[in-house]
Amino acid sequence: MNKPKHVVIIGGGFAGINAAKRLAKEDDVTVTLIDRRNHHLFQPLLYQVAMAAISPADIAVPIRSILSGYDNIDVLLGVVTDIDLKNRKVHCDFGDIDYDYLISCAGATHSYFGNDQWEDYAPGLKSLEEATEIRKRMLIAYELAERETDPARQKELLTFVIVGGGPTGVELAGALGEISRYTLERDFRNIDPRRTRIILVEGASRILNQFSDEMSEHASRELERLGVTIWTNSMVSDVDDHGVVVGEEVIRAQTILWAAGVRPTEINYTLDAELDRGGRVIVQSDLSLEKYPEVFVVGDQASFAHTRDGKPLPGLAPVAIQQGRLAATNILRTIAGKTRKPFFYKDKGIMATIGRASAVLEAGKFKMSGFFAWIAWLIVHIYYLIGFRNRMMVLVQWAWSYMTVRRGARLITSKIWKTREWEMSIARGNEGKLKKRVGLAGPTGKKTGKKSASKKSVSKKSASRKPARRKSAVKKGKKR
Ligand SMILES: Cc1cc2nc3c(=O)[nH]c(=O)nc-3n(C[C@H](O)[C@H](O)[C@H](O)COP(=O)(O)OP(=O)(O)OC[C@H]3O[C@@H](n4cnc5c(N)ncnc54)[C@H](O)[C@@H]3O)c2cc1C
Repeated sequence: MNKPKHVVIIGGGFAGINAAKRLAKEDDVTVTLIDRRNHHLFQPLLYQVAMAAISPADIAVPIRSILSGYDNIDVLLGVVTDIDLKNRKVHCDFGDIDYDYLISCAGATHSYFGNDQWEDYAPGLKSLEEATEIRKRMLIAYELAERETDPARQKELLTFVIVGGGPTGVELAGALGEISRYTLERDFRNIDPRRTRIILVEGASRILNQFSDEMSEHASRELERLGVTIWTNSMVSDVDDHGVVVGEEVIRAQTILWAAGVRPTEINYTLDAELDRGGRVIVQSDLSLEKYPEVFVVGDQASFAHTRDGKPLPGLAPVAIQQGRLAATNILRTIAGKTRKPFFYKDKGIMATIGRASAVLEAGKFKMSGFFAWIAWLIVHIYYLIGFRNRMMVLVQWAWSYMTVRRGARLITSKIWKTREWEMSIARGNEGKLKKRVGLAGPTGKKTGKKSASKKSVSKKSASRKPARRKSAVKKGKKR
């Protein structure tokens, strides 16, 4: 018997897990899956973590446990820095790994369109860390508004801007609308959460651009019903800790969320391979690279344009799942001396939710909206969640929040684990955000702003409850 070929898989997302499962228990291969995180993440439900509906552990499963039943698969925690295609080596933070075949599926990340400094003020939603950071910022904004006496500052605290009117932006805006109108309605004494301003900013002429006009209009109406204001044809030109600049307008806001763009992993730029305009790796019809047939690139990392209309497939979970499986199948077929199969996408349609009981759904010419679309959305998402425990937990929590409008995961947590530093961060209001505003000492005890960092000055500031002044790009614009 020939020595098994070594297959390296980069990434334990939708594509990587499905590729690994396809190669499991195959005598012809040994597999090493490398991921920088120890868990597989169900990204479509991340917004529910960010909006305090479910807990992080409900949508993430350790990769090791998913693949523990397969003796021919090793899982390694590590960051892939680049790939030496000529010498068939994957460079990782812990060393190099040789391969006979490679499946690269490292996904995508946020794009701030060349303004990476905006990330501090406007986190995106791609990881559990980002989801819990968004949850914390959202909940802290209400807490700060409750203790604020200056009406202008209170308004700023109760203003949320979401940049990007795609499915993620729409889902975040809908969930925020619901939280402010229903969930928090009776929880505060000094503020009325129903006065929360939620502004969804979209550069194109309508939201949910990938859907038909009809579904997009339905989503807009539903969002407006939940108190969301939609700004279309609006490009964000600056973001800082005071808010957002959109054309000539300034929206002063404490909480800004980024759902506007994605770019591929940095690994792509290290490859000796052709990239499309968006930086995704252009692949052959069998998902391999033209110059390196032993290398497959799939999922969000790849640009697959062997389609009927010649347009690259979108970054969707079903695309990644199907491509991961086919890449693995093609490796097995190559080892067995068979010809490779081309990739054909079985389109499962697209969907997005708007709040607790409404959704839009399109599959080919079939369109559905409202409650029954939401039920379909719910079934699909439960079905694709990995792990029986997760499915049950999410179902129970959804049923609970559907019936009571409560949200079970309204916890303010932080990466800061030292109690004293946590207290300081609450005094600041929001880590890294208000520290510039009031000149508090940072977690290390160093001054982070220009003014004195003494405890006395902290209490004096908070006692006067006046927003500190700071020159910023946002301040220069016309106030809205
Ligand atoms: C908020 C959100 C909502 C979404 N909603 C939907 C939806 O409703 N329906 C839908 O179909 N799609 C949705 N998507 C898109 C879908 O999640 C992606 O298309 C899908 O995850 C792509 O799968 P993938 O395997 O290519 O990448 P991913 O699932 O992103 O997996 C990439 C993996 O690679 C790892 N990795 C990355 N870089 C490195 C490195 N340098 N070293 C080691 N490991 C690395 C990551 O940790 C990750 O585990 C959503 C995405 C987001 C962010």
